[in-house]
Amino acid sequence: MVKTKKSDKKNSTEKTRVYEIAREFNLSSEALIKILSELSIVVKSHMSALTDSQIVSVRKKFEEEKAKAKTQTAKKSLKRRKKKKKKVIRAEAKKKVKTTLAKMDSQTGKKRKKDKRRYKEEKQEKHLEKNLELEKVRAEEAGTVKITEYTTPSELSDLMGITLNEVIGKCLELGVMATANQRLDAETIAIIAEEFGFKVETVGRYGAEELEDARMDSGGKKQDRPPIVTVMGHVDHGKTALLDRIRMANVIESESGGITQHIGAYVTELPGGMKITFIDTPGHEAFTAMRMRGAQITDIVILVVAADSRVMPQTLEAIDHARSADVPIIVAITKTDLSTANTDFIKQDLASNNVLIEDWGGDILCSEVSALKNENMNDLLEKILLQAEMMELKGCPDRLARGTILEGSIDQRRGIVVNVIIEDGTLNKGDHFIAGYTGGRVKAIFDGHDKELDSIGPGYPAQILGCNDVPVTGESIIVVESERKVRDVTRRRKIVQRERELHALKKVTLEDFRAFATGERSTLNLVVRADVQGTAEAIEDMLLKLRSDEVDVKIVHKGVGGITETDVNLAVASSAVIIGFRVRPDIRARESAKENNIEIAIFSVIHKVEETVKQALSGLLKPTETEDFLGSAEVRDTFKVPKVGIIAGSYVIAGIIRRNARVRLVRDGVELWSGKVSSLKHLKDDKREIKSGYECGIGLEGFNDIKPGDVIESFEIVFIKRELD
Ligand code: GDP
Repeated sequence: MVKTKKSDKKNSTEKTRVYEIAREFNLSSEALIKILSELSIVVKSHMSALTDSQIVSVRKKFEEEKAKAKTQTAKKSLKRRKKKKKKVIRAEAKKKVKTTLAKMDSQTGKKRKKDKRRYKEEKQEKHLEKNLELEKVRAEEAGTVKITEYTTPSELSDLMGITLNEVIGKCLELGVMATANQRLDAETIAIIAEEFGFKVETVGRYGAEELEDARMDSGGKKQDRPPIVTVMGHVDHGKTALLDRIRMANVIESESGGITQHIGAYVTELPGGMKITFIDTPGHEAFTAMRMRGAQITDIVILVVAADSRVMPQTLEAIDHARSADVPIIVAITKTDLSTANTDFIKQDLASNNVLIEDWGGDILCSEVSALKNENMNDLLEKILLQAEMMELKGCPDRLARGTILEGSIDQRRGIVVNVIIEDGTLNKGDHFIAGYTGGRVKAIFDGHDKELDSIGPGYPAQILGCNDVPVTGESIIVVESERKVRDVTRRRKIVQRERELHALKKVTLEDFRAFATGERSTLNLVVRADVQGTAEAIEDMLLKLRSDEVDVKIVHKGVGGITETDVNLAVASSAVIIGFRVRPDIRARESAKENNIEIAIFSVIHKVEETVKQALSGLLKPTETEDFLGSAEVRDTFKVPKVGIIAGSYVIAGIIRRNARVRLVRDGVELWSGKVSSLKHLKDDKREIKSGYECGIGLEGFNDIKPGDVIESFEIVFIKRELD
């Protein structure tokens, strides 16, 4: 089941507006207006309608330019592409061999302590070597260009040292009609730069790089900073207890003895004076919320697993989240005080999920603790410090500050309060700052004991007052030299934001996935959910077999049971498509997927999954049918009606339930049955449809195994013809 592409061609009776045409050509509305004026077409704004003949002349001009540009640049680009691809493949092959060797090492290495240390050192060396090698390949290849969402072809040409004509030629070749000073969306810029063999680093919001440069110039010496740690793991495995225990035992006491304030994170101090900062919302929701904004403040993830349990679905999710964000894991096996504790099971489970701890010859640190009995907690903290030491986390206290927003809210007493964590530099009272689309001047800084401070350094959390609006979680906060800068940058960011909304964020869908679109090895990221573990694994194996030289398939997460909002968040953070097998999204997942443009493709036959993904990989997907979700009802009670069967006393929780549409029965997120409605009643009356917020009785044709808590979904099958490009 695949979403349709937004229609490429409009019906001629409908009004086509400037911004729609701009979107079609990957232009900003502003730029299109300029081009229109070159064609002597005057329009007022991005909302102005264009006549058919105007659209025809725009298209004509576009085609002409494209044809002109094509011949000039095609040859050069092909050569470059081929060269680059060869190198990438070579580097990747090398990397593969190295990791396989390292893995083999780790599996055979007998666990004497000495060996372990040597192994670790060797591995670090290898890692360094590998990185250097990759860097070298890349450096030889071309440079890295740092881009923002506001870059123009002219700036891009300067950044890459390639003539403006060539850059514009490439834009046109790619179907982007660009002028020298018009800004392009980040995705387009990235594609163009990559076409010239450059590695692209997106440095975020408009002005971000310039601000960062100014900030970096503001100070020099680096110092160690506390590591920033997030605790993740399955529900009830003891995350909160662990965080509370650490907070109780080691939190730096405030001189004023102020009450503990929730500021999103706290600092713990170890006997030797070393410090660790813990993000105090455990779980991966907060972690992904950050990543969705491109922020990553966590240096280390503590994976909590209860010793009386096993590795559970959310444990695996946490592992996948940490991995996909490239953050090292430390395992904390907790509740070891329980008589039912069995740490061997846990280690075995972890190993079978590729989390190899030290005892098993791997390099992941692991600590066995009891938060309840306060046992071995220092061992855990020391391991965190050990890991941090290996990572050489530094900050530069005399620079202007940069940090991340943990949370912004309105406090009745204080007005807008913002919880931040400072990653580099020092934030002082009186500093001007920009926080995403807003900013302000720091009026006051508080620590976690409600004590007012004059400044806060790298690695530390704080609560600040003085922001003009409530900022968004995960946005970065950066100190600038003047109020004027704050005004200027936030104003321009708001313009970009508006543009982006008009362009509507385009995420990956199976239909749009084009393996050969950029001539690079493309990656299709997938989140896989199935009804049972065996099937999830079978699907994973099958999908991984579809990899080739041109396309990589990555399973960013696989799990069992219904599709949740967390899956959608992960898909957003990693631009993935969600594949569900005999499972369904819950309401929140469905809404979030819709809002974030994430495709959820549901299947009930394995070979269909294979066929669809295969077609997507080759860019040949021909969607034929898709599902139109109408609504869903929750079963509250069931009644036996003689001669009719079981009737589900239900409550419509979303949309409508339609008598003659199709339905399916979902239990715990898993589809049990699909078919037709045999009867639909409100009170005693037969109804054609029932709206959300009403109760009804639903009979399912030929199906009686209904239980309270089940969900009945109403849907229609729609056939869609794909337009040929
Ligand atoms: P979370 O959902 O992961 O945050 O789990 P909690 O921290 O709320 O803990 C879940 C339950 O496990 C609570 O009843 C805790 O009291 C209990 N618990 C947590 N840590 C320990 C421990 O070290 N030993 C024992 N025996 N129980 C623990």
